[in-house]
Amino acid sequence: MNELAHPHSTFQLLNQKIMKATKVLIALFTALLFILPTACAQDMSMEKDRKHTISADGTIEKPENPYYSNTDKTKLDVANSEWEKVLPEDVYAIGREANTERAFTGKYWNAAGLGTYYCAVCGNLLFRSDAKFASMCGWPSFFEQEDPESITFHDDNAYGMKRIETKCGRCDSHLGHIFDDGPEPTGKRYCINSIVLDFVPDDPNKKAW
Ligand SMILES: [Zn+2]
Repeated sequence: MNELAHPHSTFQLLNQKIMKATKVLIALFTALLFILPTACAQDMSMEKDRKHTISADGTIEKPENPYYSNTDKTKLDVANSEWEKVLPEDVYAIGREANTERAFTGKYWNAAGLGTYYCAVCGNLLFRSDAKFASMCGWPSFFEQEDPESITFHDDNAYGMKRIETKCGRCDSHLGHIFDDGPEPTGKRYCINSIVLDFVPDDPNKKAW
């Protein structure tokens, strides 16, 4: 009844609501115009950093990193200033500056697929999945390296702790640490950062990383 009694004011009210809604939509649209290109640009730069593929023979190709090879065993002596140009930021921070990824955040701490783990910096073969075990420490853990040359050990007394650092035997990048609380047959626990690992599944139809 009220609406019928005041048709003009009802129309004005509706008109005001439409105007208000239109203004909100325009504001949202304008905001999207600014936000979307920034978000896309970030996605694209991440994509560029991680542009690598598995070729038919099961090896990883990283066109942006000329030192990367899953088959070449030649020891590398490359300056950090050069690594900084060819590595994604997070791989550089851990591999070349010995940072540590936060526990339970890496992509492989609870991965159980069959396959091979390589150094994400240089492509060196480090572990087979059958040497991986569920340690629940928050980082991928292995009890045995694939070959005696693939990983080297170094005293690490940083942060007031006596630990043994593990480094890639080919490129000398920091991988993590090794402890004596692993399972048999070795009793060792290689505690490795996911970020410096590349995984190639035995089954090529499974997701690589
Ligand atoms: Zn390496």
